Amino acid sequence: MKIAFTWDYEMFFGHKSGSVNRCMIEPTNRLLEISKRYNSKFTFFVDTGMLVRGGEIEAFSSDLRILREQLKGWDNDGHETGLHIHPHWEDAKWNDGWKFDLSRYKLSDFNSAGVSLIFDEYYKVLQSYVNQEIISYRAGGWCIQPFKDIQESMKRNALNIESSVFPGGKNTNRPYYYDFTKVPNKDHWRFSDNVCVENDQGVFTQFPISSQVYHPLFFWRLFVLGRLKPSKHKPIGNGFPAKGGGSKKDFLLKKNLLCVSADGYFVTQIEKAINKAVKRGDKNLVVIGHPKACTPFSLNYLDKLLNKVSKKHEIVCLKDLEK
Ligand SMILES: [Zn+2]
Repeated sequence: MKIAFTWDYEMFFGHKSGSVNRCMIEPTNRLLEISKRYNSKFTFFVDTGMLVRGGEIEAFSSDLRILREQLKGWDNDGHETGLHIHPHWEDAKWNDGWKFDLSRYKLSDFNSAGVSLIFDEYYKVLQSYVNQEIISYRAGGWCIQPFKDIQESMKRNALNIESSVFPGGKNTNRPYYYDFTKVPNKDHWRFSDNVCVENDQGVFTQFPISSQVYHPLFFWRLFVLGRLKPSKHKPIGNGFPAKGGGSKKDFLLKKNLLCVSADGYFVTQIEKAINKAVKRGDKNLVVIGHPKACTPFSLNYLDKLLNKVSKKHEIVCLKDLEK
């Protein structure tokens, strides 16, 4: 089987964004070291709004320089760069740190002309950072629906791989909106104007992020470990997430369907997902992760996991999955 580890490369969007160094540079360097050890390739979905708006702020210029260096490094080493758009950067303000307003959080909060302008500019800026041709897209906060305007923008910029869907996922609480409860039961599919509907004539390929059900017991463990051993389980990223991703109470009381993820303690559940996918006869598995959410524990665990998994499976870029 082919496994793609896809990292959404970004800061936090809550009341504190955290620093570029702690949220991105440091954990990503660790990830790149690990990938080298097992001859594996990763995909980084770069939150390009940060590069666009950051380019307008003098105080952010040294951050921008180290970001450019890191992107160049992984570009040279054959890792994939994908476009990741969080359009709320349009409304971000710099005041000794980034201040976010999430009232226009997703592309569907903008009109068609606005979507085109944002998409074209962000694509152009990200492409100027790397030599490889960018062909993969992931929507910020999984908010890829409705697809109409994004479809036109992806076509215009020759992006043909999409990876925002996680089967069974749904969140319609503001600022989010996505509903992936009805999707093909496959590890990838072609589509045209609806990410959830297979169309063999479509120009786009969907590589959905794998998903699985997490039992409340998993979250009890996660929260208890975080309290008992904060030095191992505290994220390296030093910001605060935006609200709306689900309440702690919900996680502790009922089962939750979420992405197969390399974030923090979630990394312990990847192998289970791999075994299930092998049993189903899948050819691909997509894991999501965020450098900002890596912990000392998760990086150690990932190192050991890749050591084991890379002997049986190929760890590849999203664009190199089986079509
Ligand atoms: Zn994101």
